[in-house]
This record gives sequence, structure tokens and C-alpha cells, in this order.
Amino acid sequence: MLEPYELSLPAEMLAREEVLLAPYAMRASQSAGRLHPEPPHVYRTPFQRDRDRIIHSAAYRRLSYKTQVFTGEMGDYHRTRLTHTLEVASIARNLGRALRLNEDLIETLALAHDLGHPPFGHAGEDALDECLRQVGGFSHNRHGLRIVEQLEQRYADFPGLNLSHEVLEGQATRIDKDVTQLRPLLEVQVVEAADSVAYDTHDADDAMRLGLLQVEDLLEMSLWQEAARRVRQRWTNLERRQLERAILHELLNWQVGDLLMRSIERLQQQGIDSPAAVRQAAPLIIPSPDIAQQKMELERFLHQRVYRHPQVLLMRKAAQDSLRRMFDLFQRRIDLLPESFQRRASEVGLARTVGDYLAGMTDRFAQQQFARHLATGVLP
Ligand code: MG
Repeated sequence: MLEPYELSLPAEMLAREEVLLAPYAMRASQSAGRLHPEPPHVYRTPFQRDRDRIIHSAAYRRLSYKTQVFTGEMGDYHRTRLTHTLEVASIARNLGRALRLNEDLIETLALAHDLGHPPFGHAGEDALDECLRQVGGFSHNRHGLRIVEQLEQRYADFPGLNLSHEVLEGQATRIDKDVTQLRPLLEVQVVEAADSVAYDTHDADDAMRLGLLQVEDLLEMSLWQEAARRVRQRWTNLERRQLERAILHELLNWQVGDLLMRSIERLQQQGIDSPAAVRQAAPLIIPSPDIAQQKMELERFLHQRVYRHPQVLLMRKAAQDSLRRMFDLFQRRIDLLPESFQRRASEVGLARTVGDYLAGMTDRFAQQQFARHLATGVLP
């Protein structure tokens, strides 16, 4: 039997990319490589390997118990950070395949894009940012980079996941759009666009399911009105729930279709024929101006009516209070942290170490820790 080496699979897989991908797509063979050089893998391209490293990371597994917008106490049927991530990956891959981009890179970027979220979503992020103000604050995007570069300890040869340069750069552009002075690769732009389509749609869906909003409220938004108009052209007598579902499907389909059409138009008009040309061009994966406008209107609405809903704010307050109190406690009692974090404190400082520890927690673990330290009396 032939060994995989003898089949020269890696070379064949890289050659396959040459045939399948568009000229403006990023090829694994063009990757700038990894910080710690590694020999090529027997049957996976570098970006496939990156994706697998994300999927096998602790931070990725914990996404299933982290809040997207609504916490676990509000029910089990709404999105978590993990299911949001998978929706983003699915939309982004569809866009990527239609545009003949590098799907392995897209999937890696999508699966990694929210790894840095602390427990309790943006409420947790704001609390940690405040706690860490003296040492540079906290942002989930920056923390995502810390996780894959330092905090994951899975390999004997290097700290972090030693991901390809293009993956790290893609995450870095989420922190600072101008980080490279150059435009992000199309694979990065596709994930950004997919993230926005996903959360705008599923946050409205979850808010309806949780009874925080009615479909009539959303139909005040022009994006929803247009989607409803398209739905009614096909069906005239849908029941309420069927109508809601049909509008949600239409919203996804319509927006992704628009992104595709506009992107193809721009790529052709500007004669984009390489990743280098992508980096010099204005953003290429963006919706039509009218949809962009309508999305802004919807996002303002979601902000007021969903993210600031009294029920959501109530959860927010309790979550932030527990994180702040644990932050103070662990700064006084570093012995309560796992040993690996106690060792890190001398390298990166006490406050940052405590912040990293808290940010890594799932919602439930944070609640259990808080309850336990209250019960034993160490928390005042
Ligand atoms: Mg996201």
C-alpha cells in the first residue's frame, strides 16, 4: 500500500487550489507561513490545519456555553456564541464558494472570529474593560488574538496555536481596520459581511422567540418591510409564525444574494485579479447602499429595543457585578487561580492574568465560581 507521502497529497491539494480558486483568492501555497516554522502536513493544506487547530481548542468548545445576546437563564432555544459562529461560517462559506475564494481560510477565520468573547457577551466585555482600564482595557477581538497566540497550550513546540500569518492578520484587522495599511483579503471581508448578516437576522429572530419583540415592531423597519413584500408576492395567507420564518429566510437569501452580485460587479469593474490587487482596492464585499442604509436603521432599532431591553439589562447588571467582584477577589487571592495562571502572573502582570482567567470562563462556570466563593465566605 502506498504511504500518503508517496501520493504527494499536499502538492496535489495545493495544485487543486490553482484550478478551483479565482485569481483574487488567497492560496495556501502563497501563505506567509507561521511564526514557528513547521514541516508541511501529509494530507492537509496549512489553512485546513489552522481550521482543525481552532476546532480542537478549549476556547472554541467553550463558545457553546457563552452568551451571544441572551443568557442561558432566558432559555435554551436561542443562539449561543457557538451557534452564531456556525451560522457565520455557513454564510461565509457559501459566499466564498460562489466567489471561488479559499473556503478553508474562510472557515478558519469564521470559526475563530468570536473566540475572544468573555462570559455574558458584551456585558462581560464592558465589565472586564473597566476592571483592566489601568493595563490597557479589554476587547474581545484583541483577546481572541491573545488566545490563539499565547493562551491555548496544546502543542509541545510552541505556545498558542501557531496559526498561519493570514489568519492572525485577519483577526488583527478586527481590532484595528488600518493595522496593515492595506485592505483585508477577500476571505476576511467575506467573514465580516457574513457576521453582520447573521447577527442582524438571528438577534431579531431570538428576540421574537423570547417575546421581547413582535413581528409588527420589526415591520416598522424598511429592511423588514421589503423582505415581507417579497414574501407576500409568493404567499398570501401565511400564519403568523410561518410569515416570521419566511421573512427571516428572505432576509438571509436577499442580503447574501445582494452581497454576491455587488461583489462580483466590483471585482469585474475594477479588474481585480490577485490578492495583491484586493489589498490596494476599496472594500469589495459590501452590500448595496440602500441595504447598507436599511441595515443601519435595523441595528439602531435592535440596539434600543433588544440589547437595551429591561430583561436583558437586568441580566447584564448581575453578570457585571459578579465579574467585578471576582476580579477584585482574585487580585487579592491569586492562590484561588489555577497554577498555570499563578505562574503567568509574574510574566504578564496580576491584573491581566486575572482578566485572562475570567475571560476564559463560560457563563455557567463564572456563575458557579461566584456562588462557590460567596458560599465559602471568601467573597465579601
Ligand atoms: Mg460574531
